[in-house]
Amino acid sequence: MASLVLAPVAMAQPLTAEEQTRVTRLIQAYPDFLARLDGKELVWKDGTRMPLTHNATRSYSARLDQPGLLDQLELPYPACQSLNTPSFTFDPGRTRYEPLFFKMYGASAREVRSHLEPVNWFGQTVQVTGVNGAAASLRAVANEVAQHPELLRYVHPSAGTFLWRKVAGTPRQSVHSFGAAIDLNTAYSDYWLWRGFKEGQPGIRYRNRLPLALVQIFERHGWIWGGRWYHYDTMHFEYRPELTSAATCGVSAP
Ligand SMILES: [Zn+2]
Repeated sequence: MASLVLAPVAMAQPLTAEEQTRVTRLIQAYPDFLARLDGKELVWKDGTRMPLTHNATRSYSARLDQPGLLDQLELPYPACQSLNTPSFTFDPGRTRYEPLFFKMYGASAREVRSHLEPVNWFGQTVQVTGVNGAAASLRAVANEVAQHPELLRYVHPSAGTFLWRKVAGTPRQSVHSFGAAIDLNTAYSDYWLWRGFKEGQPGIRYRNRLPLALVQIFERHGWIWGGRWYHYDTMHFEYRPELTSAATCGVSAP
């Protein structure tokens, strides 16, 4: 009987064609884990099913705290595009459905740590997850940056990669927890929180000192940049191949 009661709810809002495209990109970006789309569910290779829903809450911060998987996919990431001041609350990739990340990268510091690999970051050894090819991808970024000596001062020293922690002042797990993020040289970094603004408020003044050429190298290798967010964090890159890739950047695989 329960299924008869629930069926109309589950059927109420089928995925739009656009949403189906976004879910398909997600599945293609994580082929080691994800298998297929089935109605309003994401099906994993191990048979796990995750609901494809939105959080209907109107508050920006509440939606970030408890997003549905469709919220994570909602904003198109402007991969490899020119540098622009992000519009109000445009934070593509900042919304994360945490069960997806916990299941891929690990649900505890100990579990994540078991997947970490050392990456030589211009003489500094940083620890990055081997899951989904993230560490190999960061090595490819380093190789490409090394061909542009004028970019070295922005990337080195790295301010950190793996650290199991919440995002400052929030209940959200930082992507640094999964070993899938890197912070660059703080000497050239700008971060909305350092400038006294409150999350979700209008009028956060944008600031960035990183060159587009550097951002695009990361983006071609599957790393999104916190400098494309209204809540900007310009030292921060995270591995999100469902949002950016060589193909998204309109070039053949590097
Ligand atoms: Zn960061």
